[in-house]
Amino acid sequence: MSDDLAPTFRSDVTVELVRSAATDTDVLWAARVSTKGEQSLETIGEDPEKSKGLINFLMRDRHGTPFEHNSMTFFISAPIFVFREFHRHRSGWSYNEESGRYRELQPVFYVPGPERRLVQQGKPGRYEFVEGTAEQHKVTTEAMEESYRSSYRAYQEMLAAGVAREVARAVLPVGLFSSMYATCNARSLMHFLSLRTKNEHATVPSFPQREIEMVAEQMEELWGQLMPLTRAAFDAHGRVAP
Ligand SMILES: Cc1cc2nc3c(=O)[nH]c(=O)nc-3n(C[C@H](O)[C@H](O)[C@H](O)COP(=O)(O)OP(=O)(O)OC[C@H]3O[C@@H](n4cnc5c(N)ncnc54)[C@H](O)[C@@H]3O)c2cc1C
Repeated sequence: MSDDLAPTFRSDVTVELVRSAATDTDVLWAARVSTKGEQSLETIGEDPEKSKGLINFLMRDRHGTPFEHNSMTFFISAPIFVFREFHRHRSGWSYNEESGRYRELQPVFYVPGPERRLVQQGKPGRYEFVEGTAEQHKVTTEAMEESYRSSYRAYQEMLAAGVAREVARAVLPVGLFSSMYATCNARSLMHFLSLRTKNEHATVPSFPQREIEMVAEQMEELWGQLMPLTRAAFDAHGRVAP
């Protein structure tokens, strides 16, 4: 395999906010139309404490629809196994992912970093992850890298022989990186975060796979910069989507 086709191994994920129309004010505006009609836009910034109180009330009593009048588009690059979990989130999400039919897939593969807990203990639903030994990390890294190299070589052999990309891609593993745009609103994002992050403030704990949680954590940070009051209320009310 030539050098430019040599695999790259990554233990991180990429999350970028590429476009947004999402502020706490959007929530207030949508909620106040029920009591104040159009005038609400003019008075919205007048009383910050009242605004905070209204967002907390909406979150606490699960009045969810005011949290839908906003939009965030994220660019995400992560392994295919993360996308398989991600795309289960149907409501309030739009996706477009790179095609393995129309373009040649690039040799970028996931290998867990040294901080990734490798060993599962306990039963499903009641288990935890603990540190792997240095030997377990070594075995994992070597086995994955060897397997990735071999499958990508097979992919290239088929392409060189004139086989269509959509056929040849069958040999590539779920550790291959893919990329997508994912668009959501604050309500659908909160539902996603409630399931895909493990957080001490959650009244209903979830046990997500660490790699999708790495994506979710970065999304939450970016969202929190846009809608700090909404994020704070989400945390304060047990991280349950309204
Ligand atoms: C820790 C964890 C482990 C998991 N393990 C597995 C597994 O082993 N196997 C597996 O297949 N999946 C698994 N999943 C995926 C899970 O079953 C959901 O598909 C995923 O979390 C998306 O949740 P959702 O359906 O609530 O989200 P969305 O699809 O975004 O839906 C949001 C909400 O809309 C409503 N809704 C959407 N569609 C419908 C509908 N058709 N009918 C009624 N209400 C609807 C529901 O209230 C739903 O909660 C797991 C998820 C997590 C977080």
